[in-house]
Amino acid sequence: MPVYEYFCPACQIKVGVRLSYAEYGVKKPVCPVCGGKNLKRLIGRVRIAKSEDRRLEDMSDPSLFGDVDENDPKSIGRALKKMGREMGEDLPPEFDEITARLEAGEDPEAIEKSMPELGGEGGGEDEE
Ligand SMILES: [Zn+2]
Repeated sequence: MPVYEYFCPACQIKVGVRLSYAEYGVKKPVCPVCGGKNLKRLIGRVRIAKSEDRRLEDMSDPSLFGDVDENDPKSIGRALKKMGREMGEDLPPEFDEITARLEAGEDPEAIEKSMPELGGEGGGEDEE
């Protein structure tokens, strides 16, 4: 027989009550300690995410970038724009220009090179 968890208001403790599936929901559970019948069913913890956590989860949601084709600048541009809208703030002034150029089909690497302040590493060195 499964054990169901209840809270006994009289004892102020959590108690386990054995009930068969047939009895559960039909028979009133009785506190094994005091015999009280006012037991409250304990349901598994309900997770309520804070809004901030929720937002971070959304940001890391792979489905956000699920349809991005890395080889298609237009696709990357659209994803970036979408990401920008999700963030809604603190976007660099170049952001609009970058997404516009990506959507126009420009090579992301070429855009990066034309905006040295974006990379932050290497700088003038020629890489393939
Ligand atoms: Zn009790």
